[in-house]
Amino acid sequence: MKYARLDAPGRVGVADAPRPVAGPGEIVVRMAECGLCGTDLEKVRGGYTASAILGHEPVGTIEAVGAGVEGHETGDRVFVHHHVPCLACPICARGDYMFCPTYAKTNLDPCGFSESFRVSADHVRQGAVLTLDRRVGWDAGALLEPGGCVATALRRIALPPEASVFVIGLGPAGLLYARLARARGATWVGGAELAPLRRLAAERGGIDATIDPADRSAVRDLVDRATDGRGVDLAVVATGAPSTVTLATSIARRGGTVNLFGVPPSGSRLDADLQDLYLRGIRLVPSYATTEADIAAVQQLVVDGRLALDDLVSHRVPLAEIEEAFRLAQRPQDSLKVVVTGPAR
Ligand SMILES: [Zn+2]
Ligand SMILES: [Zn+2]
Repeated sequence: MKYARLDAPGRVGVADAPRPVAGPGEIVVRMAECGLCGTDLEKVRGGYTASAILGHEPVGTIEAVGAGVEGHETGDRVFVHHHVPCLACPICARGDYMFCPTYAKTNLDPCGFSESFRVSADHVRQGAVLTLDRRVGWDAGALLEPGGCVATALRRIALPPEASVFVIGLGPAGLLYARLARARGATWVGGAELAPLRRLAAERGGIDATIDPADRSAVRDLVDRATDGRGVDLAVVATGAPSTVTLATSIARRGGTVNLFGVPPSGSRLDADLQDLYLRGIRLVPSYATTEADIAAVQQLVVDGRLALDDLVSHRVPLAEIEEAFRLAQRPQDSLKVVVTGPAR
């Protein structure tokens, strides 16, 4: 069986592994698609050091079910969440599942970019296997995890009704953020993005205004015009570029929120006027990862026809050509979401 792994810093390759077997309580899934995430790119570049396992947005078909598993059957189309919390520690008791010490240590075996992968008994027990609705295709399914990350962010921020939102960086995650904010009732959504292709995709997806962020004062003018000079309720940093955080704080309204959504490179620093943040009461909310309930809520939005995801996928690349998938995902002028395809598709 083939799977993708980090061969060396900067290099991703395809390797062989034995076909996984479903032990007691476990499930084996044949992969159909797995989205390529910005964190996968950062892992290959060496900028994201929390884990070296690639591919965490997989959908596929259950090919084996271990003894004692209930509610899942061979042939079911599923999405699988790669991280699960312990549900027993004090952090889980507060509902902060993403920060449970167990959470980031759990993963799929060997990874999502694999012809088949094993889902541990802990994953199965904690609800990481989500049956796909028949109205949710593979492309939309591969966007459920990033969609869940947006839903988790919006929940933690407690987005007010009829909010104004500005998203900096309209890559796959930013585009998804803009759409989900709209589906959750935002009345004005703007975005900044360097790549014209991605600005076009945003406008097609119903965003109100897009702009090239190279001219920061033009961004501030755009936001001022849309908000009568107040600034937005929520400014989202959907890129890893640390310099965009101060752009976000400058366009947030008094008492507004800045969401750190993109993964900043390890070691990056915040260079902001702290008194300005203090006096204007800017909330800085980082949001990492997601929960089973938020992922299921995103699937429900798709089923209800309130959130379109399929058209965000611009390229489907077979697992054997994974290097090409990484090359494409690093070309914002040519790509939106890149997904890797497997044998169940
Ligand atoms: Zn991701
Ligand atoms: Zn826990």
